[in-house]
Amino acid sequence: MLKRNNLKYIVLALVTLVCFHWVLTVTNPKSSYSKSWSGLSESEINGEILLQDDINNTTSYQIGKAKACFIILIRNDDLHDFRWTMRQLEDRFNHKYNYPYVFLNDVPFTEEFKKLTSALTKAKTEYGLIPPEHWNIPKDIDMEVVRKNMEQMKLEDVIYGDSIPYRHMCRFETGFFFRHELLDKYDYYWRVEPNVQFYCDIDFDPFMYLKENDIRYSFVISLYEYPKTIPTLWNSVKEFMEKYPDYIEKDNLVDFISNDRGENFNLCHFWSNFEIADLNLWRSEAYMKFFDFLDRKGGFFYERWGDAPVHSIAAALFLKKHQIHFFNEIGYKHEPFMHCPEDASLQLKCHCNPDDSFDFQGYSCTKRFLELKEYWNVTAIKNRG
Ligand code: GDP
Ligand code: MN
Repeated sequence: MLKRNNLKYIVLALVTLVCFHWVLTVTNPKSSYSKSWSGLSESEINGEILLQDDINNTTSYQIGKAKACFIILIRNDDLHDFRWTMRQLEDRFNHKYNYPYVFLNDVPFTEEFKKLTSALTKAKTEYGLIPPEHWNIPKDIDMEVVRKNMEQMKLEDVIYGDSIPYRHMCRFETGFFFRHELLDKYDYYWRVEPNVQFYCDIDFDPFMYLKENDIRYSFVISLYEYPKTIPTLWNSVKEFMEKYPDYIEKDNLVDFISNDRGENFNLCHFWSNFEIADLNLWRSEAYMKFFDFLDRKGGFFYERWGDAPVHSIAAALFLKKHQIHFFNEIGYKHEPFMHCPEDASLQLKCHCNPDDSFDFQGYSCTKRFLELKEYWNVTAIKNRG
């Protein structure tokens, strides 16, 4: 048992220590002392991005160096699902880079949407309305045929088979998002959707990685398409290739999307709810012609062509092999599939279970992509040797 007197001295010593601590913290907020006491100093919280100019006593935020932004096509009702995603994206990556967000919608954004999304980031947020001519049904589409086909697709349980808004969404993501005026000033984009998850610290700049390595399209998940949504897509693509052979890159990646050098589509495609890519790929003459050609076939409405197969086919045909990249470092989930890096060193930065990763499951095409890459690398080395 402590004697009463001793207890008094201990309490006095503790109070003195706390006061001393407090005085040091208040008088010297930038010291490492304040860091350990108050948790983190301001500059530590923001890592390398908060630049203190001690002479002028100013603070500025470093922003990523690429002309790039996040693009989010979204409905007002998706607000809370997106806040959940945006919080992760900021915590895992963007608090260090401050890349801007461009939100697009076919109806005006609500004030609540703007307020609650802009509150989650220091970066700029912009909100754009999609012009009606980018969200319309072309005049020559026969709506009777569309309705009949939609009924049939519903009977066959094709996902979103009878949805017109979904068709608008797919057509917009295929052929129009990159023409929105809010994107004119950017070269690269990262597509993000509500409800997706980011599992790993991304402590490098993927946009600059693309730029420095001449990569123009990147993905994290690839899989097979439902054939019932694209019965005539490949025939249209073949027709385009015959008509415009000069647009097709010689060093292309057709072996990823075809098992017989382009005779048939093997249904492999990159899952485009995640994309980090070069906007100029879609703005190119080849792609604009390609989209226009497909759009005239009417398959976005008569069938239910997705932006994922169309983007993937275009990337595979118009780009060089090395210009398509798999971002293993970026742990990601869009229901029901996830990519979680297996490597032990990457796992240290993640909170996902690699056993749940879709990469090597039967329905994924990523194994095929990696094997082809491996094969080309070996061949390239042999050819050089
Ligand atoms: P899924 O991933 O194929 O199941 O399709 P989603 O329902 O996730 O839609 C893809 C993206 O487009 C999401 O970011 C949605 O928020 C957005 N989206 C889908 N339909 C509409 C729509 O009618 N209007 C707007 N503004 N966004 C939409
Ligand atoms: Mn989605």
